[in-house]
Amino acid sequence: MERGWLRIANPVYDYLNTHGPCTRQQLVEGLGLSMPTLLEQLKPLWEKNLVESVKRLASTGGRPAETIGCNRNAKYAVGLDVTLYHLGGVVVDLSGSVIKHQYTNLPFSNTTSYFQQAAELVRGLLADGRVPLEKVLGVGVSVPGKLSKDGRTLEFSPVLDFQNGKAQDFGAFLPLPYRLCNDARASGWAEYWNGGHPSGDLVYLSLNRMVDGAVFRQGELVEGQNNRSGSFGHMILTPGGKRCKVCGMRGCMNAYCSIQVLADSAGGRLDNFFINLERGNLKHQEIWRKYVDHLAQGISNLRMAFDCDVMLGGHLGTYLDDHLEELRKAVSWRDPFGEKGEYLKISSYKLGGAAVGAALSYVRDFLANLES
Ligand SMILES: [Zn+2]
Repeated sequence: MERGWLRIANPVYDYLNTHGPCTRQQLVEGLGLSMPTLLEQLKPLWEKNLVESVKRLASTGGRPAETIGCNRNAKYAVGLDVTLYHLGGVVVDLSGSVIKHQYTNLPFSNTTSYFQQAAELVRGLLADGRVPLEKVLGVGVSVPGKLSKDGRTLEFSPVLDFQNGKAQDFGAFLPLPYRLCNDARASGWAEYWNGGHPSGDLVYLSLNRMVDGAVFRQGELVEGQNNRSGSFGHMILTPGGKRCKVCGMRGCMNAYCSIQVLADSAGGRLDNFFINLERGNLKHQEIWRKYVDHLAQGISNLRMAFDCDVMLGGHLGTYLDDHLEELRKAVSWRDPFGEKGEYLKISSYKLGGAAVGAALSYVRDFLANLES
């Protein structure tokens, strides 16, 4: 996957990561270095075990050519996805590939016992993957809510009882670095990492109990002045409209596009809502029609503001593949420039994207700080 936007401080590692395994001669030519300089620059990478020798058969079937490639197993990162009713975990390698994952029905509680169980989940995943603690860059913990400006504290989370929660609460039982990540941003990162967005820009709209989002520009997450960029749930869709259960204002996108709007009509279950919709239940069809109407308005506003791909994710994203054309139609007739809604995408991760993105935050930082 081409990831030209990924910033890697070390030019030799960057070249190998982009082009795949190369011979020394190919590196000399590709990087415009002399052979002695290349060998000098490769030395620390060999010492840190970050590159490895890869034997490739020559295309003629002759002697194998010795090539050098990135050692994706030199370091790992862990991600946790904390939601009200579940706890998921993943381990990723330096290429961002998931090597272990587990999803549990452990509901969140702000208790020592919960944090201990979360640490046990991490310990188990690392043991399964035979990953020693010293190879782990850190544990990214995705949480639904807004972090403080310095990113250390969960300042605002109407979903979890974890006000002013800190990464250390999770990290108390395992000697690893921990950090909290906003769930929409983490999910967006996972998509961005794997999607290869050629324009470099992406808006991710997270449709969960709380509507939230993330903005990516030229390979970077846009954080904003207060670390709140992407708070699309509180964009006003209907002035004076329905009250937002999160902020108390009227007409927020959250009041119309929270998945609760759909789930509440089907015994609190989103899967039941879509089953009823597919069966042609008239009540659910009408609820869906209104939902799509508001969602399309929100999407159109995002397109006008950012002029880039808009991706729909969160829990709702898992049900949207069959509704993409309908949604594109709904946004296209609102489009003043005659666009047909091709910019609208559906998230590819159906489960665990937030955990992957939280883990990738450590991989990204590691590569960005990999000096020559
Ligand atoms: Zn609101």
